[in-house]
Amino acid sequence: MAVVRVEHPLIQDVLTVLRDASTPREDFRRLAKKLSTLLVFEASRDLPLRQEEVETPLERTVGGRLDAEIVLVPVLRAGMGMLEALLEIFPGASVGYVGLERDEETAVARRYYLKLPNLPDRYVFLLDPMLATGGSAVAAVEALREQGARNIRLLCIVAAPEGIALLEEHCPDVPIYTAAVDRKLNQRKYILPGLGDFGDRLFGT
Ligand code: URA
Repeated sequence: MAVVRVEHPLIQDVLTVLRDASTPREDFRRLAKKLSTLLVFEASRDLPLRQEEVETPLERTVGGRLDAEIVLVPVLRAGMGMLEALLEIFPGASVGYVGLERDEETAVARRYYLKLPNLPDRYVFLLDPMLATGGSAVAAVEALREQGARNIRLLCIVAAPEGIALLEEHCPDVPIYTAAVDRKLNQRKYILPGLGDFGDRLFGT
């Protein structure tokens, strides 16, 4: 399984402000979107193109048009912080939702909602900003596979080694695109140094 740590000064700059506990909610939202836009650039590098002829103001030439049906699947609720950015890149994408809730005591993911478009033969971008234990990412991938998804990639903002290892074990064919691989999880299964609870910081809960 490929783990692509997307290294770029623009990404590191934004990530550092996201990590800062004093960053206000409006900036957190805006920067989570900006970082997602930067990540998708790398995460879409392998999408297929078809040739298309166009007439420039000067002459005829051949260019490439995206030839892929895209499905965006945010894991509720934190993944919503990445959705808008991807919809701007892929305005015609279908959108599915996976609702997974982490039990605060056990940190085990429980699925409470699933609504997916047609998935076979489509390119699925799974949006889950914090890859912590990996439990919710694996559960989301399994839900997508049950509905026939074959080409799945995970976009996250921060990943922990524990989550990467679990995904590697259960979903070796799902590449992970992340802005950072952090040190480890704490006892409450939060990522260190991380950026705190992404959903809480995004929604003010
Ligand atoms: N989910 C979060 O929002 N933050 C973490 O650190 C881990 C899981």
